[in-house]
Amino acid sequence: MNFSKPQKLTIVSLVYWVLLLYMVAALAWWFIALENQNQAITLLRLQELKEGINTNRNSIQKIEALKERKTAQYIGEGVTFLVLILIGAVFVFRATRRQLRLSQQQQNFMMAITHELKTPIAITQLNLETLQKRQLGEETKQKLISNTLQEANRLNNLCNNVLFASQLDTGVYAAAEQHLHFTDIAESCVDDFRSRFPQRIVQESIEQDVYINGEPLLIQLLISNLIENANKYSPKEKPLHVTLSQNGTSIKLDVADEGLGIADHEKKKIFDKFYRIGNENTRRAKGTGLGLYLCYKIAEKHHASIEVRDNIPSGSIFTVIFRKA
Ligand code: ADP
Repeated sequence: MNFSKPQKLTIVSLVYWVLLLYMVAALAWWFIALENQNQAITLLRLQELKEGINTNRNSIQKIEALKERKTAQYIGEGVTFLVLILIGAVFVFRATRRQLRLSQQQQNFMMAITHELKTPIAITQLNLETLQKRQLGEETKQKLISNTLQEANRLNNLCNNVLFASQLDTGVYAAAEQHLHFTDIAESCVDDFRSRFPQRIVQESIEQDVYINGEPLLIQLLISNLIENANKYSPKEKPLHVTLSQNGTSIKLDVADEGLGIADHEKKKIFDKFYRIGNENTRRAKGTGLGLYLCYKIAEKHHASIEVRDNIPSGSIFTVIFRKA
């Protein structure tokens, strides 16, 4: 018999609850049976006492005390088992739920990435064919070329995200830490973004002569992912803000936008692998749910912290804080 995924889920949940209920019922049954046995033994002993078979002076008290000790022992053991069963059940439930969510997100990721790979290829193909077949004015030609370059760049970013995420995950990425001119990297990320999105306003406040120890490719990826997201998730006419500053002990990078912002209960989840806010069918922004996960991993690798808070009056501010070497 072939079950669909939701059917399988219902069956697994049903089996889980039936098993859990059975275990708790068995435990209760075990307790009742032992307690009955305890009662019967006590009655038997009292009977023996009455018939003069066993006549110690404290026998009645002893028999009663023994009965109570046994009851206390059964309750103690029962409660311990119940607590263990419930801890196990919660653990299994949470692990299964996490696993199901991850598998759903992985499936979404596969769909998203197929789409993300195909779109730039199709656009590039179409642009090149148009350039080849038609006599176009210089301006249109330049437009098509810059559009093609933008798509190639998007493809490159996507490949980098997938590649580095898997390498950082498995620990095979051999980071070559260097003394870096952070100011230069941040400025070149902003310049690169401006050349691809000339119509977008980026307000930058990048402090001069900021240095860190790090891996240049990863730092660049971190900054560009945050800028790309700010661009993707806020209206085109609103400015983006990139700020780099330092004090005696730390270096702070802020990337802010004036978009819709992120609800409080999503602020932690967005750094999870493949996590994307909202519904797959209604979401319009392109993406794979890897960008912020990668930012988190890169920050971790550099002993930095990354967090998001609300921008005022609207939007989000992503802040990465590096400790100074
Ligand atoms: P994606 O490929 O979907 O952009 P990310 O890991 O970069 O994946 O981001 C995860 C999710 O966090 C996004 O799907 C989006 O819903 C949300 N998000 C990220 N950056 C912003 C932002 N600047 N403003 C609002 N939401 C954001």
